[in-house]
Amino acid sequence: MKPASGKPARFLTMTTALALALVGGSTTFAQDAARGPAAVDGARIVNADKEPGNWMTTGRTYDEQRYSPLKQITDKNVDKLGLAWTYKIDIDRGVEATPIVVDGVMYTTGPFSIVYALDAKTGQLKWKYDPKSDRARAGEACCDAVNRGVAVWNGKVYVGVLDGRLEAIDAKSGTKVWSVDTRYDTTRSISITGAPRIVEGKVIIGNGGAEYGTRGYITAYDAETGKQDWRFWTVPGDPDKPAENKAMEIARPTWTGRAFVTQGGGGTVWDSMSYDPELKLLYIGVGNASSWNPKFRSEGKGDNLFLSSIVAIHVDTGEYAWHYQTTPGDAWDFTATAHIILADIKIDGKVRKVAMQSPKNGYFYVIDRTNGKLLSAKNIIPLSWSSGVDMKTGRPKVNQSAEYWKDPEHKSHLVQPAFWGAHDWQPMSYSPDTGLVYIPTHIMSAYYQDLAKEPPRRKFKSAYQLGADAGMVPEAEKELRELANTWSGKLTAWDPKTQKMVWEVPYKTIFNGGVLSTAGNLVFEGTADGRVVAYSADKGKKLWEQPANTGVMAAPITYTVDGEQYVTFMVGWGGAFSTFEGGISLNAGVLPNAQVLTYKLGGTAKLPDFKYKYADHKLDPPPLTGTPEQIAEGQKAFGANCSQCHGINAVSGGVLPDLRLLSKENHARFAAIVYGARVMDGMPSFADGLTMQQVEEVHQYLIKRAHDLKDSPTREPRAAQQP
Ligand code: CA
Repeated sequence: MKPASGKPARFLTMTTALALALVGGSTTFAQDAARGPAAVDGARIVNADKEPGNWMTTGRTYDEQRYSPLKQITDKNVDKLGLAWTYKIDIDRGVEATPIVVDGVMYTTGPFSIVYALDAKTGQLKWKYDPKSDRARAGEACCDAVNRGVAVWNGKVYVGVLDGRLEAIDAKSGTKVWSVDTRYDTTRSISITGAPRIVEGKVIIGNGGAEYGTRGYITAYDAETGKQDWRFWTVPGDPDKPAENKAMEIARPTWTGRAFVTQGGGGTVWDSMSYDPELKLLYIGVGNASSWNPKFRSEGKGDNLFLSSIVAIHVDTGEYAWHYQTTPGDAWDFTATAHIILADIKIDGKVRKVAMQSPKNGYFYVIDRTNGKLLSAKNIIPLSWSSGVDMKTGRPKVNQSAEYWKDPEHKSHLVQPAFWGAHDWQPMSYSPDTGLVYIPTHIMSAYYQDLAKEPPRRKFKSAYQLGADAGMVPEAEKELRELANTWSGKLTAWDPKTQKMVWEVPYKTIFNGGVLSTAGNLVFEGTADGRVVAYSADKGKKLWEQPANTGVMAAPITYTVDGEQYVTFMVGWGGAFSTFEGGISLNAGVLPNAQVLTYKLGGTAKLPDFKYKYADHKLDPPPLTGTPEQIAEGQKAFGANCSQCHGINAVSGGVLPDLRLLSKENHARFAAIVYGARVMDGMPSFADGLTMQQVEEVHQYLIKRAHDLKDSPTREPRAAQQP
């Protein structure tokens, strides 16, 4: 056994497996056998720096810095990095998982929450676990069938399933140990895409679904048994019933009326958590409102706690400790679910325990994590919705031009950033070596428009409940394309002490990958346009690049096996941007191809060839027979029910079929498909959501859109360009 780089050899004279586990960066077969697979506990995670060859929780450490002390691969030799192995994930949809690596085994997930255990040295499959997520309910998840990875603890692997279940799997055999349904109300659309976190023997998981009208919460379950320990609600319930706890007593006066009970209120906790084991505080990022439009959920009044907030929770009891609200009364889908990094950094000569976040609203916040006090806030891109944060109150100064719901004429308002944020869920990284935070940044804006009347809560669960038109307006494709051309991405290296950009790398589109930084003075990131790249952490100089053969959204990790350092990228285009904003995401120029790509110095494996699933789809529509009324109704129904997967204006980003390219056969059985004939392929059933008449209207709208495309040969969809 070789020591991990930088580890003094004298440690190797220690004899017990436990001692080795605590000090060694790599492990031996004997050790693995002694403690079994995934034998992770709180002590191991707290002492993660003593075994840097492992990556035991999604952010590597409880502070979620996503920084690795490994330095076999450095800025001096990274140009020798080559593929060690690849593994093909079953379903070519969005890949967002951060893998876990413990004692030479990688645990990761693909679309529809399928779990893979791989030999981390060779990529050989050890076992695969398919929780068989309910495909008929796939439409109840807003943003593709993605999953952000597993947690491991005491010989078990934990996965949140898209349909709302949390499951524990035996790490050795890959068989189910227990399963719970985390939904509080099965009549609402509640999903899971986030990675569970495990602290103090509790598995903690939140949910998604604010766009469909649900109430946000997170739940802690006993890791051994799955028994519920506590649940923390993020927004109030029925005001006619007693408040559940102190947190809800604080939140309730910030809401008006009772429409939010129907709308759900939102505030889902679908991604970020971090943990301070000394303070015993769990930090959660709370999502956007339901409905988006404040008028329809709270009579346009109030801060609506704890929407778009970081909330600190006492992990033993699940009780509220403090909160900081980034966007009071959120109206723009400015979720604060983005990555929360904990660090101890020197500010004005004093070491502060901070939490750092750059949520969708475009600010970078440095918060005292002991009490929630704002230390500083600065915008990372130009903002149109706000002109700064008032340091006395900690509140953003909101520009009137962004307050679309107050417009008596219900006009469209262009707001920057908009619903994909200046930074979304893609994890950042903090390097204690450079003191910089590396942020996958978006520059994007979109139109928001108030609906004149309160929309009824749609009975069908796969229909958006925004209470506003957003992004889709103006409907004209020309404006959308013009807007798209203003969107771009970048990797921003940000100094949290000075709140200034230190270096940046521009990208041609938004939705680039999460970030990893290492002690080798390296920053790794995959890109939306299909590359995996390494930069120098201090200067941002590009040092290495290889093609990924698909877009990259997930954050890479690094680990060692038998003393050799590896870097893994989970790659595969899909997710919210490419499904919903199909037409705009085509700028990335990539197609879905889900893979695990693992690199090492001197690696010589080859990137496998890939055949695009919909390559044979052709533009061959039936004659246009629909009336203008039918087509107009079809457009509305498509926008509310179909656009989140098949793209605004029926322009697909290539992840799911472009419905303008339907085959003759599929045109003939259109209604059957909408009513569930292809549920097993992931096409949900709309039997409860669309009447026969509406299905016909949607069909006529799609035929019209196909003819539009036929008449404009310059607007060929990406799918049609494939060989
Ligand atoms: Ca949202």
